[in-house]
Amino acid sequence: MDYAKRPWIFGSGFRNKKKEIKKKEIERNQPLHHSDSKPVLPKTSPSRKIQLRPLLIAITIIIFLLLGTRYWWREMRWRYIIIHHTASDVGNLAFYRKQHKARWGDLAYHILIENGSLDTARGQIEYSQRWHKRQYNASTKKTYLNYFGIAVALVGNFENHPVPTIQAQTLVKLLLRLSDKYNIPPSRIIGHGEVQNTKCPGKYIQISELRELIAKKRKKTPH
Ligand SMILES: [Zn+2]
Repeated sequence: MDYAKRPWIFGSGFRNKKKEIKKKEIERNQPLHHSDSKPVLPKTSPSRKIQLRPLLIAITIIIFLLLGTRYWWREMRWRYIIIHHTASDVGNLAFYRKQHKARWGDLAYHILIENGSLDTARGQIEYSQRWHKRQYNASTKKTYLNYFGIAVALVGNFENHPVPTIQAQTLVKLLLRLSDKYNIPPSRIIGHGEVQNTKCPGKYIQISELRELIAKKRKKTPH
């Protein structure tokens, strides 16, 4: 209905109607703020974002450093091999473990080469918990040798008699394997008696000959 052409019919109410129409027209022409404009998101402070990233990077670096150090300490710290004898012809890992436990908490050595006594096989190798956990050994009075050395002991008294062939063969194989795996040069295969005033590992184990043999065998099979 065209109100403008018939103002007399509507009386005073007409003016109000007119105002209403104008108001609606103005509203229609104006942009719809809430639907057309971009949605306003709650503001996140830019400083918070910047702080989070270095923090994550720092945490990642720390985790990698810790894991790397742990791995290095477990597998890459070995620099020496120390040879011992047990000075007794009867014994196995459990037997010596009992003897050493009170003083050193566990067997003092990492690896034991059996001589066939106490239900073992001659030349059999037993690894102590100390080796499984890659803990320091307690076999010498030199701290650096205990922390960075692998302690290998042969069951027997080799001050009194020669090393049985199978036990000697096992020792050579083991030394080759360890020196290869941990890149330990033959010059760092040491007899207990070379660093301390002791007869260990006995006069029948000639460490200098052993070093030469390992050096020769390593040359034959270069890696
Ligand atoms: Zn010793």
